[in-house]
Amino acid sequence: MTLRPNSPEARDAAYHMHSYTNARALEKDGPLVLESGEGIRVTDNNGKSYIEGMAGLWSVGVGFNEKRLVDVAAAQMSKLPYYHNFTARSHGPVIDLAEKLIGMAPVPMSKVFFTNSGSEANDTIVKLIWYRSNALGKPEKKKIISRNRGYHGVTIVSASLTGLPNNHRSFDLPLPGILHTTCPHYWKEGQEGETEEQFASRCAADLDAMIQAEGPDTIAAFIGEPVMGAGGVVVPPATYWEKIQEVLAKYDILLIADEVICGFGRTGKMFGTETFGIKPDIMTMSKQLSSSYFPFSAFMMNDRVYQPIADESDKIGVLGHGYTGAAHPVGAAISLENLKIIEERGLVENAAAMGAIMRKGLDDLTGNALVGESRGVGLIAALELAAPEGMEIPVGQLGAKMSGYMMENGLISRAMGDALGFCPPMIITEAEVKELLDIVGTSLDALTKEIL
Ligand code: PLP
Repeated sequence: MTLRPNSPEARDAAYHMHSYTNARALEKDGPLVLESGEGIRVTDNNGKSYIEGMAGLWSVGVGFNEKRLVDVAAAQMSKLPYYHNFTARSHGPVIDLAEKLIGMAPVPMSKVFFTNSGSEANDTIVKLIWYRSNALGKPEKKKIISRNRGYHGVTIVSASLTGLPNNHRSFDLPLPGILHTTCPHYWKEGQEGETEEQFASRCAADLDAMIQAEGPDTIAAFIGEPVMGAGGVVVPPATYWEKIQEVLAKYDILLIADEVICGFGRTGKMFGTETFGIKPDIMTMSKQLSSSYFPFSAFMMNDRVYQPIADESDKIGVLGHGYTGAAHPVGAAISLENLKIIEERGLVENAAAMGAIMRKGLDDLTGNALVGESRGVGLIAALELAAPEGMEIPVGQLGAKMSGYMMENGLISRAMGDALGFCPPMIITEAEVKELLDIVGTSLDALTKEIL
């Protein structure tokens, strides 16, 4: 494709280096340029409208033109457009939000620490856990266990926690001391004759063996998303979290629940930890916290985590950590209003109800010869395509083609290998879910015609 000279696409290709993009392909083909958003839809600069089937990056819970968030941002900009929380400073929005989050926590939590992105939150968590281990006089207790296909971000530590090859290759990652255990994807990792529960027991046994091999006194924490998102929407098998938590409790290992995608309704309950009976020591939050109207993230920690850190900061005289933009008054005001909207409009319940319809519609496609698995919980799902018996198709090709057909037909999804993700805004209506499913069906028909 030749880009039209001086078009937005050509100028973007000339000056803008993109995230998660093949840079050479972008130079040639240019980007998709979006101009506006309304409800669950976005419109590009040619006037073509798409259902945003991924809510942006799993994040725009309240949809793309929520006026209440715009108004609250403008009001806060006019009143106090910026302040920080260094050296014991604070402001109303962040005080209200910290209190609100502690009140919402599904297990007793003690303090909230504010950051700007999910990556930064997880990076900070690891840093504070190291600080805590030193405070406790256990300097050897520093290793963190994550999972293959887990996603926790892209900064040096967070990318190390992430268990996906493209986040490590050529980046000299993961860092030493960050380990990855079995991915709890029954459909892919389960063995012949193994039940889901037996598979969950094997995942827990693998974790136990890793802890034993490394030395239990060297492991500080385990991190996991209640449901894996970017690794392909992996819903853990029955009894998985129960068994994992038994292992962690045995060795005094902290549990970090990365709720960056699951938090604030996505799994059909307010938090993914509630959906799966997880009792974390730390919870990472971002995305639907502000519906991504502002870069904003935070994590909560319980007293077991907080108290030794507080003691250490007292001993040293300061907690030597913080970000200029974190605890931002505009982000905090937006997040508070966003949480109010989620509660007032019953969006968690809507996610559960609309998710059930969406997942049923995707399940109905499993008879198609190109569909390997349909999986999901609440309003997050994936349809994984697979080459039929006897056909060799390179991994990722079916996913990319299907994603292309859906784009043509007006639906933005995300191909993660051959798994297509569906995670639309939580305001979606039944009619809109049906429209989304119609496009998936039509696109799958077109793909089937092309391949078979
Ligand atoms: N944790 C999870 C579960 C995520 O899905 C993501 C992003 O997709 C992150 C952390 C990283 O967040 P960010 O992209 O804001 O750094």
